Amino acid sequence: MNPVGTLQSWIGGRWIGAEAGLSLRSAVDNALIYHTHAEPVDAEQALDYARRTGVPALMALDFQQRAARLRALATHIARHRDELYTIAYLSGATRADSKHDICAGIGVLNAYAGIAASGLPSGNVLHEAPAVSLCRRGAAAGTHIMVPRGGVALHINPFNLPVWSLLEKFAASFLAAMPCVVKPATSTSYLAEALVRLIDASGLLPQGALQLAIGPAEALVARLGDDDAVSFTGSDATARALRNHPNLLARPVQVSVAAASLNCAILGPDVGADAPEFELLVDAIVRSMTVKAGQDGAAIRRVMAPRAHIEALTARLRERLAAVVIGNPAAADVHMGPLASQAQRSELGARVRALAEDGEIVCGQADGYAPTDDAVRHGAFAAPTLLLCRGGNAVHEIEAFGPVCALLPYADVEEALALAARGRGSLASTLATRDPALAAYAVPRLAASHGRVLILEREVAAAGTEALASAHLTYGGPGRAGCGERLGGLRAVSHYLRRSALQGSPTMLTAVTGEYVRGAAVRESDRHPFRQHFDELQVGESLLTHRRTVSEADIVAFGGISGDYFYMHFDEIAARDSQFGKRIAHGYFVLSAAAGLFVSPAPGPVLANYGLDDLRFVAPVGIGDTIRARLTCKRKVDRQRRDDKGVGQGVVSWDVQVTNQRDELVASYDILTLVAKRPGH
Ligand code: NDP
Repeated sequence: MNPVGTLQSWIGGRWIGAEAGLSLRSAVDNALIYHTHAEPVDAEQALDYARRTGVPALMALDFQQRAARLRALATHIARHRDELYTIAYLSGATRADSKHDICAGIGVLNAYAGIAASGLPSGNVLHEAPAVSLCRRGAAAGTHIMVPRGGVALHINPFNLPVWSLLEKFAASFLAAMPCVVKPATSTSYLAEALVRLIDASGLLPQGALQLAIGPAEALVARLGDDDAVSFTGSDATARALRNHPNLLARPVQVSVAAASLNCAILGPDVGADAPEFELLVDAIVRSMTVKAGQDGAAIRRVMAPRAHIEALTARLRERLAAVVIGNPAAADVHMGPLASQAQRSELGARVRALAEDGEIVCGQADGYAPTDDAVRHGAFAAPTLLLCRGGNAVHEIEAFGPVCALLPYADVEEALALAARGRGSLASTLATRDPALAAYAVPRLAASHGRVLILEREVAAAGTEALASAHLTYGGPGRAGCGERLGGLRAVSHYLRRSALQGSPTMLTAVTGEYVRGAAVRESDRHPFRQHFDELQVGESLLTHRRTVSEADIVAFGGISGDYFYMHFDEIAARDSQFGKRIAHGYFVLSAAAGLFVSPAPGPVLANYGLDDLRFVAPVGIGDTIRARLTCKRKVDRQRRDDKGVGQGVVSWDVQVTNQRDELVASYDILTLVAKRPGH
């Protein structure tokens, strides 16, 4: 790529933009590196293309197929990771910083691919089971489904993590079959452009699934419609402007905001300067101040420490921060590079000065930092800056988005929690403690105003605060942090789907959800369901087994095999006094006997039984009771997998109902199997 070329947007399946617009400069030495394109993005065209081309192309795939594409995309981007690292360097990122952005972004794609493979169905209807019976005879049932909404998602991203923020929002909306238009922050849009070019070159995405719009977002926001969504991450001021946009006030566009957050950490009163947790918290603070030069929405901005320990903490942090090597992010011995732009540097300086009105600067400075290396003298450097604030509100109001953190002494836990809450809602908090009673008291209070709480102690040290970025956990904070919810596995995918309550007969619910709902019509044939391949099986395929009378010999034999001589099965007197009034069979015997009733023993397409879900022993089985089982194909998920020999396979869940001679349900569960496809399928 031409290092002083003009960036392009990817709209309507074409790369557009030829005329130079805004100048973008290297964070490292202020050299001109790119221009944005001057031509405005045609918002109408972009949204229309997403709706008309993107939606049907995404809907031509199902959840599982999109998950497989995500995994392939992660592999493709990982293969080209170094190209992105080289470009990220221009934004001031050290190699470690790029891991935080680029590797973490690839990790999110992989995590979502895995979450979707195991948690989403084949097809495009997500059934939120279980269905409930809405009348005595079971003729009417109700359940919930989640379906793609058919609109387009506008993703507006901040400058600080251009790769991660693009991929984490994209992964969830892509799985939900919602095409997205990504608007990257202008100052680091060159990295977003490089990423989208890689994605384009992969050929893995359906047409219209992703578009890139470099430049102002106003025209796009103004044209969002009722089925659309906007997911924004950025500053308070922009969040406010967006929420008050006339189109978003006038129309039911789904708006999700992640904004400035004054995250906090509390050093527990139980943690003295010689405790490992003290050093762990110091590590976490230094890391949060220096990774990406503190430009992370989850960075710790406020640290509450007991008055008795504040001096020790201040001294230790000062010592550790003095050892941070600031300079050219390409150099191996450099810990911290510059801020992303000169604009950020001057804004940060102003904010540090405002914070200093309510406290003292313990180390660092407001006026940036001049490295000794001549080659990077004009870079956007800032010094790690620690403040000590004994009062005032500035520290709870002003976000200095850089390597800046403030210490606040507290007298007791109540004061620490009150200080934490003064951030008016934050993304993340950390509590360093070894005291479970303190954690049990403080965490629910912290959770009321923080999207995440990390309890930091020696056992979790290996994971450290990086674990905060886990794709499986919700990411977002209440109050001024925006009330948005991102990541969080399937919760994030649901965010882009629409939930609808569904009422009808079990047969209709089965037809719509693609999952057998009890009470629905079943299909019985001469061929045992276990002898049918994955591609032959149909949901509702069912087998009602022969019967078996449970004898005392069964109980004795099962006790002997399992070693389970629980009184309920073996002590006539105690069993008579129990709620059942008699000896009963082991629940696990009933389970095993049911398997004996329904399996088809000869080798066949069922490759493995890998577990069971939702097991309930509903009623006791006594000596002399006669049981039988109904096995019904409940759900089929095609994860697009093949074994080493190239034979395709899918996951089949079977509904099992074990009943007694009075047709009463005695045991209920789902069994999970892997089933081979026919050769060539
Ligand atoms: P900004 O609010 O300046 O910009 C964010 C995005 O909004 C950019 O893409 C920007 O585009 C765009 N934008 C600007 N004005 C408008 C508008 N009127 N309508 C629509 N879009 C607009 O934030 P920064 O990029 O400076 O990011 C830093 C901020 O992000 C910090 O405050 C930080 O706390 C927050 N953040 C929050 C996180 C969280 O999860 N809570 C995570 C990461 C960051 P352009 O660049 O072209 O102006």
